[in-house]
Amino acid sequence: MVTFLDVGQGDAIVIRTSTGAAMLVDCGPAWDGDDAGRRTILPYLRSQSIQKLDALFLTHPDMDHIGGAPSILRRVTVKRVFAGGDDWNEKTHPLLYRILRERRLKLTPLDRGKSIEMGEGVKLRVLNPGNDKRTTDNEDSLVIRLEYGNSCLLLTGDAGAEAEANMLHGGEDLRAQLIKIAHHGSRFGSMERFLKAVHPQAAIILVGKRNRFGHPAPAVMERLEGMHVRVYRTDRDGAITAETDGNVWRIRTVGAER
Ligand SMILES: [Zn+2]
Repeated sequence: MVTFLDVGQGDAIVIRTSTGAAMLVDCGPAWDGDDAGRRTILPYLRSQSIQKLDALFLTHPDMDHIGGAPSILRRVTVKRVFAGGDDWNEKTHPLLYRILRERRLKLTPLDRGKSIEMGEGVKLRVLNPGNDKRTTDNEDSLVIRLEYGNSCLLLTGDAGAEAEANMLHGGEDLRAQLIKIAHHGSRFGSMERFLKAVHPQAAIILVGKRNRFGHPAPAVMERLEGMHVRVYRTDRDGAITAETDGNVWRIRTVGAER
């Protein structure tokens, strides 16, 4: 089961396998004196009796993805921490690095071609970053294809058109019935050629209500609509869960205030 938590403008995605392995992809934002880890992710993990994470993936070092990471690392046992790109350093994220050290954890970089077996036939295949030239750390985002039986979910971080072109060029199998739309639906990603290659039936957008970036971009919404993709978004639907038997995804929304 995959849960896309409503952390406002940011990403936090919990993945659970049938044998109880649990993973977290990104940790949502932090703000004055609080963060999405403490406010949203930890209460959710507790509600699901998840006390340990087999893996934490930090797609890229932007605050709307790692702001809650210190809270998570402090209060949950995390086995391994994987990161996208090489734009990580202690200077910009001193707190994160301090806690990683306290926990005797290291950031393990992942790139295209690697894959992680989670047991019970669940496999995470890394599609980005590759060794192509990139201009921003968004383009370095981890892109992961979660595979289980015939079901695939594409998690895209904040990847943009450049990363999409690289993945298409790399000839990877991008097809997925379900996609987490990159970069909160920004107009700098989710290009038509990429979406066509993924060929999703449903799309999830993690996005904050009335965010100052105007996400999701109308052009992206039109593209998805034109391809008859069913769209779920956390600003309207609240938390979203997707469950698969290896063939069909069942998507449910928890419902948010409008
Ligand atoms: Zn972001």
